[in-house]
Amino acid sequence: MHKGDTVTVMSATPAPESVSVSGWGRTAPSTARVVRPRSQEEAVAALRSCAERGGIARGLGRAYGDAAQNAGGAVLDMTGLDRVHTIDATGASAASAAGGTVVCDAGVSLHHLMEVLLPLGLFVPVTPGTRYVTVGGAIAADIHGKNHHVSGSFAHHVLALDLLTADGTVRTVEPGTPLFDATAGGMGLTGVILSATLRLHPVETSLMAVDTERAADLDDLMARLTATDHRYRYSVAWIDLLARGAATGRAVLTRGDHAPLAALPDRARTAPLAFRPRRLPPAPRFVPEGLLGRRSVGLFNELWYRKAPRSRTGELQKLSAFFHPLDGVPHWNRVYGRGGFVQYQFVVGYGQEETLRRIVRRISAHRCPSFLAVLKRFGEAGAGWLSFPVPGWTLALDIPAGLPGLGPFLDELDEEVAGAGGRVYLAKDSRLRPGALASMYPRLPDFRALRRELDPNSLFRSDLSRRLGL
Ligand SMILES: Cc1cc2nc3c(=O)[nH]c(=O)nc-3n(C[C@H](O)[C@H](O)[C@H](O)COP(=O)(O)OP(=O)(O)OC[C@H]3O[C@@H](n4cnc5c(N)ncnc54)[C@H](O)[C@@H]3O)c2cc1C
Repeated sequence: MHKGDTVTVMSATPAPESVSVSGWGRTAPSTARVVRPRSQEEAVAALRSCAERGGIARGLGRAYGDAAQNAGGAVLDMTGLDRVHTIDATGASAASAAGGTVVCDAGVSLHHLMEVLLPLGLFVPVTPGTRYVTVGGAIAADIHGKNHHVSGSFAHHVLALDLLTADGTVRTVEPGTPLFDATAGGMGLTGVILSATLRLHPVETSLMAVDTERAADLDDLMARLTATDHRYRYSVAWIDLLARGAATGRAVLTRGDHAPLAALPDRARTAPLAFRPRRLPPAPRFVPEGLLGRRSVGLFNELWYRKAPRSRTGELQKLSAFFHPLDGVPHWNRVYGRGGFVQYQFVVGYGQEETLRRIVRRISAHRCPSFLAVLKRFGEAGAGWLSFPVPGWTLALDIPAGLPGLGPFLDELDEEVAGAGGRVYLAKDSRLRPGALASMYPRLPDFRALRRELDPNSLFRSDLSRRLGL
């Protein structure tokens, strides 16, 4: 279990007491019995003990909302299943495009995989904005990274997984089957993922070659992303949602790829695959009220935009700085104070640019003090029935939960998103209403039907599944 976690952990025996469990946004804590199995056998036993009040698997608790909580029932903390079983690195040579494979437990974090794989010239196929997520959580949310437009989402790289289902059996599930498609993005509701086989990406170094540029406004940003994203494996834009008028949607684009060995200066070639991310002291528990108010966030955004180069190419950055800048500050989620924060992420398809423009204008007019807002282009959708990414524009922003009028405002944005055929991301959600869900996720009836058949007594349940009627 990683230090940044938000639950008190207990082993499978003796019977644990109930503790408060919350998501990364800390908005909707609930109380559950947390069990931490350390083997497949203990996971089966733990599941049996959930019969009455239901259970849900939990990884490192990085889902922002209530997906890995189960009020009054059990939560299976899967971080005790944390072994890397086998690595096939035969395709990891510099010239090879093949990569390799790894078989690991579902509770292994992407951080640990990076520690083990990078020295072998291999990298995880998809990483989100934090490496403190587990393989199980990555599959259950079918996470995406900055490379979605090239590589698709996480489940696309899963060759097989072992799933503990409601009847107590462990099934090996392969892509191309209904159970796989329901599990990829299924938010833990088809069963407990115990282990998985993943395809890996070959790398020559642990550095990134990064191009940075500024975009003056939203249209400039979209034009740049549309014209040149295909040249980069990784692409994302930080967007200033407090900028108004002609500057609405101004942004800093950072795009790049794994640096080849030849791009490294001599001094870095002695250990080209070194991976030693820095960690600063934890964020303070009590942050002065108003630190994340409109004025201070506006100032931060202004400085961030101005400090970015108008255009810079080929800068070598550490992998951790490029992918996971926030991981350097443990517990950074505390800076939003006791009320926590909401992360709102939606996607609208290509052709719906006017909706995106309207939403960005509305957020900017609402003066949401968001310093973590990113825009990105998604590529092809995966096969997961409740998987979030579809081809289009995705915007994610953090907002303090206490912002006046936030609930009704986000409800209105949901309507805009749903009206444009888009959807919000369940792994980030803590507030969506069930009515909006069906149009956002058209395969929902298939998902529900499969669950009814596989798990007739709804053994697997979570606060999210109850709230949305999944
Ligand atoms: C700073 C930050 C940046 C992020 N950036 C991104 C991003 O760029 N892209 C993106 O897609 N997401 C992103 N996320 C969200 C995160 O990747 C997902 O929420 C992920 O699911 C978290 O994994 P976890 O191990 O913490 O799972 P948890 O948060 O503990 O659980 C998430 C879901 O997975 C299920 N689950 C967990 N383990 C298992 C298992 N073994 N078997 C079955 N189900 C299981 C849970 O039931 C729950 O439904 C980000 C989160 C943070 C905090």
